[in-house]
Amino acid sequence: MKRLIIFALAVFAVGATAVAEKKIPHAVRTFNEVSGRRTEIVLPQVKGFNCYKGDFHIHTSYSDGRVNPAGRVVEAWMDGLDIIAITDHYEGRRGEQNFFKVIAPYNANVKYQSAKKANCVKADFNAIHQEAVNQLEKSGFPMLLIKGCEMARNAETHGHFNALFLNDLNDLYDEDLAEAFRKVKAQGGIVVHNHPAWRRKTSDKTEFHEQVYGEGLIDGVEVANGYTFYPHIVRRCIDEKLTMFANTDEHTMTAHRFNQLGLYRTMTIVLAKELTEKAVKDAILKHRTIAYSGGNLIGEESWLVEYLNAAVDCRVTKVDKKNNEHVYMLTNNSSITLRLRRGKTIYELEPFKPILVSIGKDKTDVEATKPVFHVDNMWIVDYNHPKVTLEIDK
Ligand SMILES: [Zn+2]
Ligand SMILES: [Zn+2]
Repeated sequence: MKRLIIFALAVFAVGATAVAEKKIPHAVRTFNEVSGRRTEIVLPQVKGFNCYKGDFHIHTSYSDGRVNPAGRVVEAWMDGLDIIAITDHYEGRRGEQNFFKVIAPYNANVKYQSAKKANCVKADFNAIHQEAVNQLEKSGFPMLLIKGCEMARNAETHGHFNALFLNDLNDLYDEDLAEAFRKVKAQGGIVVHNHPAWRRKTSDKTEFHEQVYGEGLIDGVEVANGYTFYPHIVRRCIDEKLTMFANTDEHTMTAHRFNQLGLYRTMTIVLAKELTEKAVKDAILKHRTIAYSGGNLIGEESWLVEYLNAAVDCRVTKVDKKNNEHVYMLTNNSSITLRLRRGKTIYELEPFKPILVSIGKDKTDVEATKPVFHVDNMWIVDYNHPKVTLEIDK
């Protein structure tokens, strides 16, 4: 009762002086936490190399994407990437065309130069890259930006190619696409054959491909683009010593294509000593990459085996000699789930959640001392999975 009286008096007192004394702020933050949280993707060190996460094929609103270069940089950082290349279409630039429509009332003389014509190089491609660089410097993200663009012709006869590691993106256009590739090479750049079966029924080479591959103008191929995997390209990369890439080819936003589905975005894992353009380019030219798409890892068998053993800690926790049983504790110390299989039994090795596996109790399982698994979400040549013996107690 006494409390109630005090409360009533207090309300009366506040009510009487509220208008005169209580200062109500004009603006109040509804939430005080810092924004900009990155999803870190933890990958192992493989044979002394760091695994850098790269996307070498991204579009912006300057060609036919819906996000501007600065937005792409922030998005990539949030997605956990270390390296990106903005690769707007060199020939078809819908965004730029729309911009010309918007400004038309202010200057009737300004006309968009059709991308089909040789004068399509009017855009300053270096300025697009610079916009991304400015954002990177403003934000202070420790990421690497590679200068690049996508060159395209008829999908049936030629297809699409990314030019990367360039100094000057302007004046690369040539009606003869092979000649444009030679200009890229003259700058020390590399050429990647993108989505090789896109709008085609095959990923086999065309006459033009035979010519440019034969001339040594192609350095790498996308074994995966977005969620599309091209199994035949793995063999091509191994036989012809080309580098395997997996990129998003993002035109919209990665959030609704990948993150909201609980997956990391498609990426090229680059095994390099340090995050510099020189080291990353060197790794790419020496084919030290692993492609990631939709929870799958695609690459050369030797690198995938090394990767698996670097990512998985395998310890013996029990030896029952009488029953020939060995129990192993497997821990996946990386962010990418590994799907191991022995016979028909699947072991979903989720990140940082150890599991125990008993081998040898089954009398047909003679080699209990060897933890051998097929890795079903790893893909090597000819659409096969690698068979890996895990290193014990390393
Ligand atoms: Zn393309
Ligand atoms: Zn593209």
